[in-house]
Amino acid sequence: MISYKLLEAALLATNDGVIITESGGGGAERPIIYVNPAFQTLTGYTLDEILGRDCRFLNRNNHEQESLNTIRQALRANQACRVVLRNHKKNGEPFWNELSLSPIFDENHAVTHFIGIQKDVTERVRYEQHIERQNQLLIEKNKQLEELVVRDPLTQLYNRRYFEEHLNRLWSVHERLKAKIAVAFIDIDCFKLYNDHYGHLEGDTALRLVAQKISSFFSRGSDIVARYGGEEFVIVSSLQNDAPPFIERAEKMRQAIYDLAIKHEKSKVSECVTVSLGVCTGVPPARSTPSLFTRKADAAMYQAKHLGGNNTVHTEF
Ligand code: GH3
Ligand code: MG
Ligand code: MG
Repeated sequence: MISYKLLEAALLATNDGVIITESGGGGAERPIIYVNPAFQTLTGYTLDEILGRDCRFLNRNNHEQESLNTIRQALRANQACRVVLRNHKKNGEPFWNELSLSPIFDENHAVTHFIGIQKDVTERVRYEQHIERQNQLLIEKNKQLEELVVRDPLTQLYNRRYFEEHLNRLWSVHERLKAKIAVAFIDIDCFKLYNDHYGHLEGDTALRLVAQKISSFFSRGSDIVARYGGEEFVIVSSLQNDAPPFIERAEKMRQAIYDLAIKHEKSKVSECVTVSLGVCTGVPPARSTPSLFTRKADAAMYQAKHLGGNNTVHTEF
């Protein structure tokens, strides 16, 4: 059996703060009866100043901390716990306090005291918070990069690559579910003449306006709109019902692009910017491919052009 003096020497020698309180007899107050010198160094409080008080005064106004709930539960259940909480030193300076709390039992298994071992872990917590912030920034940056990879810089629509990936995914799901999809190709009529007459910058502006209009009509969760290339756009949609509501929406969109009234003096189709649409709808068959589906929508779009432009042609797959 080691001596009481030796145990006391250990308490005096340790760098961790040690605090002993009475059990409080089930009440809310657990009066402090002992703190070691390391506790005084850590917090600035001497034993005389805090004798008989409850440890809560160290929290000051930080009563909303989750770790305080953990402590309360452990105290109520007479169990040990280990938490990190925000406390304050005597001079008001806040610090992150790692606290290991243990109940002391008598021979009848009744709790007589609690012992708290305390460490100042402010440096470690600050470092962890710094790492966490850096991780968040990296996650944000990655998200932005991922967006850049799938977006067309001029219109902010998805790019062709994303369209193809999306269509492949949609294809396999809809093939399995025997559900319909729609692909619509949209091409601006006589756009080379527009560029030649108004200049490339005006051309870019017109492209953006058309892109916005298409997006505004096809912004449901089941739609994606992409810039396929040049002055061509594509819509992919999962059809809940039959094709007609999709065709109706596409027709309204075509009219709305005309209603933008972007002057196009040189167009052979109209006095303003117009588009031709080819729509292909159907259930993806087992022995076919998304590119055949896309080609059919493209062919329908060319038919719409041959009908004089500013037109929609629908085909079933
Ligand atoms: P059609 O009615 O048969 O579709 O004729 P079109 O002139 O629209 O088609 P064509 O394929 O001959 O020309 C497409 C033009 O689109 C060529 C190019 O000047 C223009 N274009 C392609 N990409 C861009 C772009 O990023 N910005 C601008 N301003 N113009 C572009
Ligand atoms: Mg074209
Ligand atoms: Mg064109």
